[in-house]
Amino acid sequence: MIRKTSLMLTLILVVTLIGYAWGSPAKTINTDVVVVGAGGAGLTAAITAKEAGADVVVVEKMMIIGGNTLRATGGLNAAGTVYQDKAGIKDSPDVHYEDTMKGGRYENVPELVRTMVDNAAAAVEWLNDLGANLIQVNLSGGSTNARSHAPEGGGAVGPAVVMTLQNAAKERGIEVLTQTKAAEVLVEGGQVAGIRCETKDGELIVKAKAVVIATGGYGANPDMVVKYRPDLKGFATTNHPGATGDGIDMAIRIGAATCQIGSIQTHPTVVPVSGIMITEAVRGQGAILINREGKRFIDELQTRDVVSEAILAQEGGSAFLVFDQGVRERLKAIEDYANQGLLTEAGSLQELGDKLGVSGEVLAETVAGYNKFVADKSDPDCGRQHLDYELNKAPYYAVEVTPAVHHTMGGLAINTKAEVLDEDGKAIPGLYAAGEVTGGVHGANRLGGNAVADIIVYGRIAGAEAAAFSGK
Ligand code: ADP
Repeated sequence: MIRKTSLMLTLILVVTLIGYAWGSPAKTINTDVVVVGAGGAGLTAAITAKEAGADVVVVEKMMIIGGNTLRATGGLNAAGTVYQDKAGIKDSPDVHYEDTMKGGRYENVPELVRTMVDNAAAAVEWLNDLGANLIQVNLSGGSTNARSHAPEGGGAVGPAVVMTLQNAAKERGIEVLTQTKAAEVLVEGGQVAGIRCETKDGELIVKAKAVVIATGGYGANPDMVVKYRPDLKGFATTNHPGATGDGIDMAIRIGAATCQIGSIQTHPTVVPVSGIMITEAVRGQGAILINREGKRFIDELQTRDVVSEAILAQEGGSAFLVFDQGVRERLKAIEDYANQGLLTEAGSLQELGDKLGVSGEVLAETVAGYNKFVADKSDPDCGRQHLDYELNKAPYYAVEVTPAVHHTMGGLAINTKAEVLDEDGKAIPGLYAAGEVTGGVHGANRLGGNAVADIIVYGRIAGAEAAAFSGK
């Protein structure tokens, strides 16, 4: 009897130990639609699917939601809104379409652009009904008309959009599971069946009839950037750390195709490590770029790719943006940089050079030479065309800059219903994608203000289509 009991106990022990060795069984939840990623596109899709009657679960791998959307500083491009009307701005989706195609060097997928521009005004209305208050209309680079919708008072669009969507999701009882990383799209019997996630408590299976991938871009994944764009080796990034392209990999593994995957927008003047972007307007208002020898090396107002390459070719792969008090007075944005402690300030160029570890004497010579080019309206050194302001008003300022990956414009191939396409151009039933994870909307170059338009328009489409596919 005693022998039998101890045998039983040993057996139970062994089974338990084997159980531990294999890891505890995955927890499973069931829903109609699962959305991967709680940035602007994902939250928009979730709210839309929920409003259509579907049960929705959102998984987010980071501790906080918002992704790159939270970092969007401009606005939402939309043509034909009541806010443009009120401001007396005449605009139309057709002009928005043409601007977007021209900006993207006509490499954009035309029907994706058409869908975005035709639905952008409704996207602004939808967000404002949720309380976003995007009523100020600004002009943005590459746009014929002012159509970039920002919060009243001109604040950054990203935080306003994320906060609005977060509140709306909460009010609707949508479950957002943070620190939950999707690792695989599940397929059963040839059908998308949900996702497998990794959490700090082990594996989680979310069974769903439809999956929306809204994981954003891959701008914070240097290996992936170099894989698709070897020329961008060594570039820093303006992206949040979660922009690692997970959704692209996951979808490719179940047969998804990509579209213009190597299309990446870089920004030449970004503060190393912090990833804070220094607007081009600083150079536009007269700042010059100098290297560690204290010398200029490029026409500072060349296109982003050319300036980026030139900076990377300098010692240390970075340069200093140098300007005077006159530039600071002409550009309000500089106050932000000063408040964030990004600027090195000095009473003279000699002193500024010394503070930067660059010969003050050479720097003073370089600026004196540049001021002469401004006076002569000719820059034989670097061929700068815009020679409007001399740099002669103390104090002088500098900020170290290096090029950085800004937006990954390529991604998963989708159609106008936000369905993910396979290599034959056929929709993968039940799989949807929206936002920066997708490719084709922006072509070779994205216009400022079109990313937010893209995520809201396609987030809404993906949410509605996924809900319908799930039978709701
Ligand atoms: P978009 O602008 O397209 O909405 P964002 O960058 O704003 O893109 O948001 C994408 C979100 O997806 C981010 O919050 C990011 O952390 C999240 N994300 C990325 N990969 C995963 C993953 N594997 N599982 C869950 N969430 C993810």
